[in-house]
Amino acid sequence: MAFSALGLCTELLNTVTEKGYTSPSPIQKEAIPAILSQRDVIAVAQTGTGKTASFSLPILHLLANKPPPQTNCVKALIIAPTRELAAQVALNINTYSQNLNIRSTAVFGGVRIEPQKHELEKGVDILIATPGRLVDLYEQSAINFDYLEILVLDEADRMLDLGFVDHIHHIQNLLPKKHQTLLFSATFSKEIKALATTMLHNPVTIEL
Ligand code: AMP
Repeated sequence: MAFSALGLCTELLNTVTEKGYTSPSPIQKEAIPAILSQRDVIAVAQTGTGKTASFSLPILHLLANKPPPQTNCVKALIIAPTRELAAQVALNINTYSQNLNIRSTAVFGGVRIEPQKHELEKGVDILIATPGRLVDLYEQSAINFDYLEILVLDEADRMLDLGFVDHIHHIQNLLPKKHQTLLFSATFSKEIKALATTMLHNPVTIEL
């Protein structure tokens, strides 16, 4: 199967070609069409399987060619358990969006909050965040979720292991009722199933 069969726009197809990707990985073949059809998705995928592109590419497709985000607004929110993962996802999204007019930024703890507030003031299409800093920024009125369309929980099992479950539920309660949720986890434990039950609506389940 070729990338061109998945329904992604020309700009993204050019980007994957420029990156040297010749064909989609198994998780990408399943997840990209499901996300493009705006379904909720739960995907059990390990790091190294191409999972980052499996959600980043369709999110970029869905957000491309739309009006720019308004001040402090976020259209897609990706929550990651650690600052290292958040930075890595942000780097990937930066590369995948090189042929598009998309603003993305990462926010995480351990660094000054003020520069992150300035970035958010401009509005961002895609925000990559760790749970603690995200809640801090929201409480300081630096983020407006009124126009949020897509929520991604990346490495959700690690977020539960690190004790972020209350943060995740708190954030979920701040989002508009109608949004698309994508949950990625390396394991499909009963805790992850329970989280999925409360957070996803009629999801497509991808287990490879
Ligand atoms: P991830 O599982 O998202 O951490 O991705 C693992 C690595 O695979 C990253 O270095 C990506 O650049 C690379 N990658 C992702 N999708 C593909 C693909 N379809 N073909 C070749 N490499 C890929």
